Amino acid sequence: MTSLVDARFDNRFCSRLAADPSDVNRPRQVPGAAFSRVVPTPTGAPEVIALADEVVDLLGIDPSDTTSDSFRDLVTGNAVAPGMDPFAMRYGGHQFGNWAGQLGDGRAINLGEMVTPDGSRQTLQLKGAGRTPYSRSADGLAVLRSSIREFLCSEAMHHLGVPTTRALSLALTGDQVMRDLLYDGHPALEPGAVVCRVAPTFIRFGNFELPASLGELDGLRAITEFTIREYFADLVPESGEIDADTVVAFYRRVVESTADLIVHWQRVGFVHGVMNTDNLSILGLTIDYGPYGWLEDYDPDWTPNTTDRHGRRYRFGNQPGIGQWNLAQLGNALHPLVGEADPLQEAIDAYVDRFRNGYGDMVRAKLGLQTWDVDDDESLAIELFDLLRMVETDMTILFRRLADVRLDDTAETEARFAPLVDAFYDPDTVGDDVRNRWHRWLDNYAARTRSEGTGDGLRAETMNAANPIYVMRNWLAQEAIDASTAGDHSKVAELLDVMRDPYTERPGLEHYASKRPDWARTRVGCSMLSCSS
Ligand code: AMP
Ligand code: MG
Repeated sequence: MTSLVDARFDNRFCSRLAADPSDVNRPRQVPGAAFSRVVPTPTGAPEVIALADEVVDLLGIDPSDTTSDSFRDLVTGNAVAPGMDPFAMRYGGHQFGNWAGQLGDGRAINLGEMVTPDGSRQTLQLKGAGRTPYSRSADGLAVLRSSIREFLCSEAMHHLGVPTTRALSLALTGDQVMRDLLYDGHPALEPGAVVCRVAPTFIRFGNFELPASLGELDGLRAITEFTIREYFADLVPESGEIDADTVVAFYRRVVESTADLIVHWQRVGFVHGVMNTDNLSILGLTIDYGPYGWLEDYDPDWTPNTTDRHGRRYRFGNQPGIGQWNLAQLGNALHPLVGEADPLQEAIDAYVDRFRNGYGDMVRAKLGLQTWDVDDDESLAIELFDLLRMVETDMTILFRRLADVRLDDTAETEARFAPLVDAFYDPDTVGDDVRNRWHRWLDNYAARTRSEGTGDGLRAETMNAANPIYVMRNWLAQEAIDASTAGDHSKVAELLDVMRDPYTERPGLEHYASKRPDWARTRVGCSMLSCSS
């Protein structure tokens, strides 16, 4: 184990790719470079308020170091360890469907790539540690509410089994930050905070798109070869030469991991909220937790992001299609390295099957089936999701209760239906027509499970491994935010603790598995979020 200040760093992104020759830290275009060296901005009174023990462990950091002043200063940008080489990445992106040009790490500063004591590599990145050349007109800072949301949700996603960037620490900066929460002309001061994020790399689709869009072919080739050599090493041919076929194979992998990622999002009810191409990880990780949200009542048209209120481009039900759209942009960016469109087209065409198969398998597990018959079972699933929309129904609770339903021959249909009532926001809205449709569906479901002959026990086991009982409900995060803002940070740790084991129902934790309370229905931060963070 090591202390963070003595940790070993080997900053390959900086040593292998083109650096911005200027060290002027003000917003500007940075042609030709992959990154700019930039030092985090010191803060007034840094204080670590939450830690993820699993990430401390992942990095091989001695737990006793996490209470040291040097740890606190390093994870808040108030000090830089000897092995670190802080930098901001240069990337571009399509925002809400439009090409936005250079974006880059405007409020994220990579500290460096840590070589952990067991030899694995993880990049440490501070979110909210001050301006960089990519900050454009903004301040490079982050506020407590959004930092709590990022810290908690990235760890919750990990424990749910969803690929994601991780979070080592959450800290207050001791400074105040001005934000207009709803962009409606009411700016106010809020506590500033920094999250130390952790991932093998934070490279995004936009890292490829920007050099491609500007005809910077050397830069495009360099970032692509770097990414393949470092993170897709098994694709490098024996000759060591990366050619067009290698690039296509790499692209195919990204197509697959992105499809797989979005299957997970749909499984747990996660809505990213800002699936711009600069927010899609080349490793297929969930990245950049901003105005994300969790489906409570099942509504595929829902988006938590008020900035996207009109087009609802990033609504829950649109995420699979947007994944494909974003991959098409990445494919266009890689085209100059491949020289022909057909192989890239073929690779992205595989997205639909990859997603459909993964989705089928996911719904199979959610229903506790051992096999999946595309034609029959897909219609069973479609009817179920239609039912979920008929009256306000909590998706998470519904699938857990469905596992409790007895489907053996003797059970009465009404008795089967009874456990599901928990999932309805207002059981009085369930009229005879809805009830009858549920009864019919339950009969079909019972017949289907009987045909497998596996019994209720195995079915429930399969279901409860795919359907979490505890998810990062928007209002739970808000409760932790409210407490923390009032000075009580214990709720953040408590919530993280619940989320550590999201598939095991435990007595005493009913609060964390309950439906959205009425106060949260219209509360900003719960059902409405903006990009203001
Ligand atoms: P997002 O879609 O929120 O991930 O951010 C889009 C772009 O805006 C990225 O280049 C971010 O680095 C940048 N950005 C977002 N918020 C800030 C901020 N407070 N200061 C500087 N840059 C920011
Ligand atoms: Mg972003």
